[in-house]
Amino acid sequence: GKLGIALVGLGKYSEEQLAPALEETNQCYLAGIVTGTPEKAEKWKTKYDIPEKNIYNYETFDTIKDNPDIDIVYVVLPNSMHAEYTVRAAKAGKHVICEKPMALTVAECDQMIAACKEAGKMLSIGYRLHFEPYNLEMVRLAETKTFGNLKKIKAENGMNGTEGWRVDKELSGGGPLPDVGIYCIQAVRYTTGQEPLAVRAKEGPKKDKEFFKEVEASLTWEMEMPGGVIAECKSSYEEDMSLLRAEADKGFFELKPAYGYSGQKGETSQGKMDLPKVNQQALQMDDFAEAITKKRPTPVPGEMGRQDVKIINAIYEAMKTGKRVEIPA
Ligand code: NAD
Repeated sequence: GKLGIALVGLGKYSEEQLAPALEETNQCYLAGIVTGTPEKAEKWKTKYDIPEKNIYNYETFDTIKDNPDIDIVYVVLPNSMHAEYTVRAAKAGKHVICEKPMALTVAECDQMIAACKEAGKMLSIGYRLHFEPYNLEMVRLAETKTFGNLKKIKAENGMNGTEGWRVDKELSGGGPLPDVGIYCIQAVRYTTGQEPLAVRAKEGPKKDKEFFKEVEASLTWEMEMPGGVIAECKSSYEEDMSLLRAEADKGFFELKPAYGYSGQKGETSQGKMDLPKVNQQALQMDDFAEAITKKRPTPVPGEMGRQDVKIINAIYEAMKTGKRVEIPA
């Protein structure tokens, strides 16, 4: 049968993306919810036909361990809460999907990975683009050297506007970098198939200094890849952008927009890409359910999330000091 998923945190992403996606999945379904807001519990209960016994709040959350309907806990809370709820879910004997960024520090990531390992449960990060055909095509074109050896990558992701906990440093861990810049880090890693050796970074100017008093409003950074490829990256809360471009010896391949829930467009020096449209989140959750059932690894494990957290913190160090910061292996 299908595996049961419980969503923890019923904010925008759960409501607008994950719950609808769970109506298109084949190997898992929305079995439960965890929310601190009784009105949301009531609304979701009716809308998705969720039994009362599968509805939890943050105080009762740990008793989810006694509920055989829930196989997977999906943590969709503000970033600073990911570590605590992932560890508690693992201790309750559940497999875990945790949203990006995995956590704020590498030490937290280590605790999350250890808790899941100790419980004998799997951990994956909500990296939906690993299931998106246009992004997978970028990986394939690089891997097969269709346009020769890579020379340069450009990755930019941003939007004009944000709100709430995302500009509260304690809850978010930073500004656009861990929120949307993380997609650029991911894109450089999966397109090159390599890990960055070092980074340089520069904070951008702020249009609204008061609103962005705790976090950067934008930044640019460079990632030095083994073999000499340089990735030029940019992320912002004050500018719309979505680009992944690879330049190689014999041509280019790029996505613009690259990182959204849908609407990817791709072009190469030989013409436009024409690939199927998918529900990324449905594929992502089904793949995790299948990994659990077949006892095979997930392509988006905790270790991948941990590496991104390590890179994010190196970029912040480079941004603060103005220095080139090496990324320890
Ligand atoms: P949101 O603000 O819409 O929702 C956050 C939820 O957490 C709300 O329901 C809120 O009530 C709850 N919450 C519990 N304790 C809280 C506290 N102390 N402070 C603030 N809120 C608290 O945010 P969102 O956009 O749904 O993002 C949630 C997570 O999902 C984030 O980690 C984000 O990075 C991630 N996300 C991922 C994607 C993706 O494409 N993979 C897209 C959007 C968000």
